[in-house]
Amino acid sequence: MNEVNFVQASNLKEKPDVSKIGFGTHFTDHMFEMTYTEDKGWHNPQIIPFSDITISPANATIHYGQAIFEGMKAFRQGDKVVIFRPLDHLNRLNNSARILDIPQVDVELVHTALKKLIEIEKAWVPAQRGQSLYIRPFIYADDGFLGVSVGKSYKLYIILSPVAAYYSHGFSPVKIMVEDTYVRATQGGLGEAKTPANYAASLHAGLVAHKKGYDQTLWLDGVERKYIEEVGSMNILFKINGEIVTPELDGSILSGITRRTVLQVAKEWGYPVSERRISIDEVKDAYKNGTLEEVFGSGTAAVISPVGVLGYKGEDMVINDGKIGPFAQKMFDYVTGVQCGAEKDIHNFTEV
Ligand code: PMP
Repeated sequence: MNEVNFVQASNLKEKPDVSKIGFGTHFTDHMFEMTYTEDKGWHNPQIIPFSDITISPANATIHYGQAIFEGMKAFRQGDKVVIFRPLDHLNRLNNSARILDIPQVDVELVHTALKKLIEIEKAWVPAQRGQSLYIRPFIYADDGFLGVSVGKSYKLYIILSPVAAYYSHGFSPVKIMVEDTYVRATQGGLGEAKTPANYAASLHAGLVAHKKGYDQTLWLDGVERKYIEEVGSMNILFKINGEIVTPELDGSILSGITRRTVLQVAKEWGYPVSERRISIDEVKDAYKNGTLEEVFGSGTAAVISPVGVLGYKGEDMVINDGKIGPFAQKMFDYVTGVQCGAEKDIHNFTEV
């Protein structure tokens, strides 16, 4: 009954030179759409030509933000196209749905639809190492109603966008400002969900950090401004005295799929790994006593983003002489190797 219909686009677009387009600017010929109504539940799953969508000016999402999304990637391995950990991403979509009171989706159905969509758009998956087809599923409340309430109707879409390599000028460390004024999320709030509100909350602080000469912000907890949460829109990890340390998932942190990957692989490589509260003062002390070996972010976009400078209260800590640490480099090479097929995927992280 929930067969995924396919309506083919009559005109196919010209494919861009992916090395020149950056992130999120071009979209493939088709997209997946599914509709939720109170009487029918999720229904009418279909792959249709990519087009603008029509919403009421009173659309609940525009006014009150009841929306969620995901971000994952497909990679070309010769003739084959693989998706990195799609079920983990779709399960996280349902976790975000739970937090935002959006009806759960049938992960199996969306997974099947996603694979069908990727198969149809296979020719859009770029070939160079680091390039990928970015997959953006999203759900929003579709009610045209100005009352503040949980929606009664929803739309789910999956759109696809070919993207250039994140490190087009080479894998390099970033400069991060520890943010002790603005807060991204708090416990009891929406931090664990991938929902627009968290990104809206981060925009201004990001601008301020840029104006001060930093690439991104390091987020502290919203209560004491003491414990480290995330970096930009990535999870953060530290290598302190040989141990990989990352903030525990406390409800205000997104459970990153890359974070999960790095922790699993690090353990297998024999590193001690700990998920726990870590304060900015502990990091400062480790820096001062010479045990802060590496700092890096993890996320779908960059995979690993080494931190070269951490600015806190007007002072810059230069990590590992501002150079890429050996652990970050090894992990980056390994995960990107699995993604492009150069490395054997013993964990079945990728799926055809
Ligand atoms: N935190 C935030 C706020 C993010 O937006 C992302 C990117 N999805 C991450 C962490 C990293 O998650 P993942 O490794 O699943 O991309």
